[in-house]
Amino acid sequence: MTPERKKKRVVVVGGGVAGSLLCKTLLNHKHLDFTLIDSKEYFEVSWANLRSMVEPAFAKRSVINHHEYLPGASIITSDAIGIEEDQVSTMEGRMIEFDYLVIATGHIGTSFVTKVEKLRQYEAENEKIKSSESILIVGGGPTGVELAGEIAVDFPTKKVKLVHRGTRLLEFIGEAAGKKALDWLTARNVEVILGQSVDLSSSSDGVYQTSSGEDIVADCHFKCTSDPIGSSWLQETYLKDSIKDDGRLMVDANLRVKDFENIFAIGDVTDIPELKQGYLAQRHALVVAKNLKLLSNGADESTLVKYTPASPMAIVSLGRREALLQVWCVTLIGRIPGMLKSKDLFVGKTRKQLGLKA
Ligand SMILES: Cc1cc2nc3c(=O)[nH]c(=O)nc-3n(C[C@H](O)[C@H](O)[C@H](O)COP(=O)(O)OP(=O)(O)OC[C@H]3O[C@@H](n4cnc5c(N)ncnc54)[C@H](O)[C@@H]3O)c2cc1C
Repeated sequence: MTPERKKKRVVVVGGGVAGSLLCKTLLNHKHLDFTLIDSKEYFEVSWANLRSMVEPAFAKRSVINHHEYLPGASIITSDAIGIEEDQVSTMEGRMIEFDYLVIATGHIGTSFVTKVEKLRQYEAENEKIKSSESILIVGGGPTGVELAGEIAVDFPTKKVKLVHRGTRLLEFIGEAAGKKALDWLTARNVEVILGQSVDLSSSSDGVYQTSSGEDIVADCHFKCTSDPIGSSWLQETYLKDSIKDDGRLMVDANLRVKDFENIFAIGDVTDIPELKQGYLAQRHALVVAKNLKLLSNGADESTLVKYTPASPMAIVSLGRREALLQVWCVTLIGRIPGMLKSKDLFVGKTRKQLGLKA
């Protein structure tokens, strides 16, 4: 009789797009036991949150408690705050031991810890939109553009102004895409102001001043600038030298943090040279799941799976039916790309990947 092999302990930090799929893939594995540490008790299809602001009921499917898709799993709702030897420390004072660590802390996002709080936030934001005649959106990346699109389509009589610091919209993709988004929004009466920023802390009585001194009057505003990368909790740890100046973690072809054999990183927190997209974060998760399974089976290092960075492809939704697609340097706008994303925002697909009803 062969002696029973001790299960390897995996700690996954971050239950976003990458971490959730990784945990689902490792659930009930015979040689691996995982613990998920996430700041919040739920997973959210992050790009669906702009639809949830104009239609709060949408969030009932896109905000999913971790226990729903990981029944019986070990889940800790807390911020990870550091690593000491082979343990992760949490804000609530626990030390969680690991044989393998996976860092999936993409971006530091919401401060709402429970699903109930998160759903209430969408109700509140929806009320804010409905009760305002004029709305200021600060930030012209994907979040600001998608929010402007949602409001322009669902509430066409609202006066929407979008202020962006950069010289064009959607700087993460090509210039032609930014121009098409600008034309689309302008045609729907969204006023876009480029090359200026707004100091939100100095606004008073609905008057906001731009960096050029222009006053913008609006009943409410939404800050849509990008969230910080979730690597600050590693700054004082032995991983600090693996963090690049832009906050991303250096990884090798097997998605291990550079110079560490038992620490992996996946998703937006990595320095993989490709667009930061959720479907790619999920590919990273599947590669690391395979590598963890191989390692737990005692496989040779040389057999580990390698990740190849993907070619650039992104879709920015523009309301419920239209979208902007960029593949390599080709851009397409309108109903056809909209059919891919804009109706359900991949929520059904993501739920299915987590073993839930679409
Ligand atoms: C408007 C918009 C639209 C988008 N549309 C698409 C799209 O259509 N398709 C697509 O594929 N991608 C899209 N993306 C990109 C996609 O959202 C990201 O690439 C994806 O969310 C990255 O996943 P991640 O798991 O790396 O990080 P995240 O989803 O950011 O998850 C990080 C997780 O880590 C947790 N965390 C952070 N720090 C800590 C800590 N110290 N301790 C514990 N937990 C922590 C957070 O709470 C969170 O749960 C879009 C992005 C935006 C902004």
